[in-house]
Amino acid sequence: SDSKFPGEVTTIFSVMSKLSQQHQAINLGQGFPDFDCDPTLIERVTAAMQAGINQYPPMPGLPTLRNAIAEKIHKAYDSAYDAESEITVTAGATQALLTAILTFVHAGDEVIIIEPAYDSYLPSIRLAGGIAKPVQMELDGNRYFIPWDKVKQSITPRTRMLILNSPHNPTGTVLTTEDIQALKDCVRDSRILILSDEVYEHIIFDGQIHASMASDPELKTRSLIVSSFGKTFHVTGWKVGYIAAPKLLSAEFRKVHQYNVFTVNSPMQAALAEHLSHSRQHWELPAFYQEKRDYFRHKLQQTRFELLPCHGTYFQSVRYRDISDLPEREFAEWMTKKAGVACIPMSAFYQQPTDSGVVRFCFAKRQSTLEQALQRLQTL
Ligand code: PMP
Ligand code: GLN
Repeated sequence: SDSKFPGEVTTIFSVMSKLSQQHQAINLGQGFPDFDCDPTLIERVTAAMQAGINQYPPMPGLPTLRNAIAEKIHKAYDSAYDAESEITVTAGATQALLTAILTFVHAGDEVIIIEPAYDSYLPSIRLAGGIAKPVQMELDGNRYFIPWDKVKQSITPRTRMLILNSPHNPTGTVLTTEDIQALKDCVRDSRILILSDEVYEHIIFDGQIHASMASDPELKTRSLIVSSFGKTFHVTGWKVGYIAAPKLLSAEFRKVHQYNVFTVNSPMQAALAEHLSHSRQHWELPAFYQEKRDYFRHKLQQTRFELLPCHGTYFQSVRYRDISDLPEREFAEWMTKKAGVACIPMSAFYQQPTDSGVVRFCFAKRQSTLEQALQRLQTL
């Protein structure tokens, strides 16, 4: 056919959410909270609308929001970004990622991705005419890690970009200081840009410090950092995020962004600016989600699932081989229909067919939802 996107299918998140709904299952598949955001945030949206903030904001975003983002980055990572020229508000992280890839990846350029990889990277690279070069994370016992020697081996003169994600969806791994050192050795003296998906920057556990590309002066100069208020303030449906990058990179990004969405809805931006400046919610997020993680993991230990580590994000991956021999996708469908709990198969995050007998649960749920789901999982 003349499809520009042959073979592309509906994303696994839509598929599993639909199946979950059809079978009235508890949806621990697609990642989103089942609890509401801070009511103050809603009041701030209403206040913004009533104050007449309802027309186009400036193309790169409301200055108040860009200033608040710059302040937050400075506080979190001791790193200065100029709000005027280095921060752009986007329609969620997804649009930031796609626009960044369309901006910098020329036809035939190679982009290294680390698998398992969030499902929008590959199609975005394809739309840009780029060639994805996947490097698979490896397992040391139960611990996923990036084999940096293999990353280094896959670099060629055509490599334009390396996409990283920490804290990592779906494995819950976080970049360590050793990873950062290896990364620097890989990209030094190259023209490689780092597209750093840091949407879970504030969901990191056990007192670990998020290794943002912003906090390393050497990496910062070649990095485009993406984040999302959906994850940070429990509003995934608002689809507001941002990209932070050095001036020249931001200027190029904006050339494409202005014809992609032009700008992002103004009342939400105004509300988020207020909230980011005056609430402490994002600083309290590690403790908030760690409590959920600890409860979920503790109870899962009383099931036949085998837990993989979770150092960040609101995802917990598990092995299910003691329960079933089904391939991942079939197992996920079977569990949704038979046990009434939806999950995401790990294979959805790979380009080539894989099967490691692993599925992912989302624990961004009310205590009562987790309790109910765990009761069902205990019967397996
Ligand atoms: N990157 C990762 C790793 C994600 O998990 C998500 C959310 N599922 C996104 C990007 C997209 O974020 P947004 O909803 O803000 O577009
Ligand atoms: N990021 C979410 C996840 O990983 C889902 C995003 C989406 O539905 N596209 O589950």
